[in-house]
Amino acid sequence: MRLFIAIELPADVKDQTERAAGDLKQRVEAGRFPGKQNYHITLAFLGEVPRQRLDSVKSAMDSCRAEPFTLTLGGLGRFRRREGDVVWRKVEAPDALFSLQKDLSDSLIQRGFELESRKFTPHITLARGAVFKNGFGTVAPGSAPDDVSFTVSRMTLMESRLTGGKRVYTPMYTTVLGA
Ligand code: ATP
Ligand code: MG
Repeated sequence: MRLFIAIELPADVKDQTERAAGDLKQRVEAGRFPGKQNYHITLAFLGEVPRQRLDSVKSAMDSCRAEPFTLTLGGLGRFRRREGDVVWRKVEAPDALFSLQKDLSDSLIQRGFELESRKFTPHITLARGAVFKNGFGTVAPGSAPDDVSFTVSRMTLMESRLTGGKRVYTPMYTTVLGA
């Protein structure tokens, strides 16, 4: 099973983020825009994991000692790609988020999982393959969502599947922070 561990977003935050993405959508000539049900912040991407190792993933999650913390989401940005840009919403990450991600990664590595060694850059992906009609610079200010803050009190193990050509995430397990 294809697995990753993520921070989920409250429904109102997803709604507000979707409005910004909707505005963006009108300003591209190409791009794929995942629905708001797929918005998340990835903490760790595990990739293909045999089902019998699921308990080991759960134990890695439960071993994290992080307390709940506040996260603020800001405006939009992009990673430039030749095939079209990745557009994301900025996560104003407090130290607590980096501690959680490090704690989780260490716990997973201790249990033999292999993770990306890339630096952790928390973000919420809003579009892939985005090609802007008039350039991104003219787009971002108008469609920027207001900053929003919320409390992160859990992390969720997700299964990621392609179903009928659509990417679907299914929550498999949740760890409550500070429990
Ligand atoms: P699709 O691949 O169909 O465009 P997706 O990227 O949302 O959709 P997955 O590839 O299953 O679905 O990825 C799930 C999450 O893990 C996403 O947040 C994705 O950015 C992240 N992710 C995927 N592959 C990696 C990787 N090699 N390293 C780090 N994060 C990854
Ligand atoms: Mg992917």
